[in-house]
Amino acid sequence: MTTLESTLDRVVDVAGRYDPVIGLETHVELGTVSKMFCGCPTTFGAEPNTQTCPVCLGLPGSLPVPNEVAIESTIRIGLALHCDIASWCRFARKNYFYPDMPKNFQISQYDEPLCTNGYLDVTVEGRTVRVEIERVHLEEDTGKSLHVGGATGRIHGADHSLVDYNRAGIPLVEIVTKPVAGTGALAPVVGRAYVTELRELLRSLGVSDVRMEQGSLRCDVNVSLSPAGSGVLGTRSETKNVNSLRSVERAIRFEMGRQADVLDRGGRVVQETRHFHEDNGRTTPGRSKEEATDYRYFPEPDLVPVAPDPAWVDRLRTTLPELPAERRARLAGELGATAFEMESMANAGVVELVAATAAAGAPAAEARNWWLGYLTQKANAAELEPADLAISPEQVARVVALVEDGTLSVGLARQAVDGVLETGADVDTVVAERGLRRVSDVDALAAAVDEAIAAQPDVAEKIRGGKVAAAGALVGAVMKATRGQADAKTVRELILQKLS
Ligand SMILES: [Zn+2]
Repeated sequence: MTTLESTLDRVVDVAGRYDPVIGLETHVELGTVSKMFCGCPTTFGAEPNTQTCPVCLGLPGSLPVPNEVAIESTIRIGLALHCDIASWCRFARKNYFYPDMPKNFQISQYDEPLCTNGYLDVTVEGRTVRVEIERVHLEEDTGKSLHVGGATGRIHGADHSLVDYNRAGIPLVEIVTKPVAGTGALAPVVGRAYVTELRELLRSLGVSDVRMEQGSLRCDVNVSLSPAGSGVLGTRSETKNVNSLRSVERAIRFEMGRQADVLDRGGRVVQETRHFHEDNGRTTPGRSKEEATDYRYFPEPDLVPVAPDPAWVDRLRTTLPELPAERRARLAGELGATAFEMESMANAGVVELVAATAAAGAPAAEARNWWLGYLTQKANAAELEPADLAISPEQVARVVALVEDGTLSVGLARQAVDGVLETGADVDTVVAERGLRRVSDVDALAAAVDEAIAAQPDVAEKIRGGKVAAAGALVGAVMKATRGQADAKTVRELILQKLS
């Protein structure tokens, strides 16, 4: 079993001998009200097969009508990624048979994508990497197969399969990068940073809810290795449907190690699709990769070409919202954060959370410490994004205020946060119900101090004899007896007073 730690070392080792080249294909389900070519609703989680019609079921004689909002969203994504927008392009049929695709072809775009030649800059360890965008095109999503009876939910070992066409026909944008080379051992982190930045960009445009765990943002990760300095492109593998930011990094790391093993033995990397396994961080072979010619693409005869009016495109360009990179530059000033701190926050996905916590009244440095520290730990432990934790920036600001006014120690504040995360109640309720207030009242603490002294007479004797440092043991005992609620400074003063 390859552990995470050993693969981190391994990446540095591999990058010393091979140049890793990565490429990312990201699928984004647009948040339109209706589907791409029909009027069916797109709500996530509805009863299977309740959001279908003759068009998205591919029944004979039905005709598609394009969704204008989907085309507009795709153009806005292209503009935000600095792409050229085609003045004329066509949809194409991508022919293949699959049970979750009722027409037996998918309406996509082939050699005439809507947007081409853009870029997205990401910053990793203080270095800006320009990820070039090959194309952004629009297509329709497939349905979903559900394999029942097998151990893993995969078709292998299942005793029957069900298909849900609710997702069939939901507008899907595919964003394809050019090969990203020259990042060495940083390649896995660059891949993750790119998807993180792209997700922020899509969120700021409001075109998708970009929920990776619900599949509205999905990534295929291409990795190849070429012998260092050779300039010869290696054969790539394509790992499909990598469904979290962390998995993007892990999949690239694993593939770098696996391919280096093959090449070191004098073997040949096979061009194939692979599956990523969340549980062990490994990839396993899927099918060998089809070539574009296998799909017999041809222009979709049921749809007229798309020719966006240049005036419309200009209007969309001038009405783009503030994009994440600009927003971060502005927030860096407002939050008094260094470039390094902004990068840490961006890569942890907490920029907006820190900004909102500061806006709710917390000092920016405290807001940053909480989100980058304890709350990121809690999110990682729960395998959630920090934004999905059940605590709002306003509640975090309230915790900070209670620490500042002395009501809570940092330890008690963490207990209060735990309580909010567990119960969904607000901070003040948790503090009251769990009795978390710091006790600094001398009378209330005196009894606990007396008990601690009585329980450890030898320690008390040392302190009486002048060994003041020994007081720590008694302070610890009082803290334990009061479940961390005692004010340590007051306890220490009390002990020294009583034993002087
Ligand atoms: Zn429909």
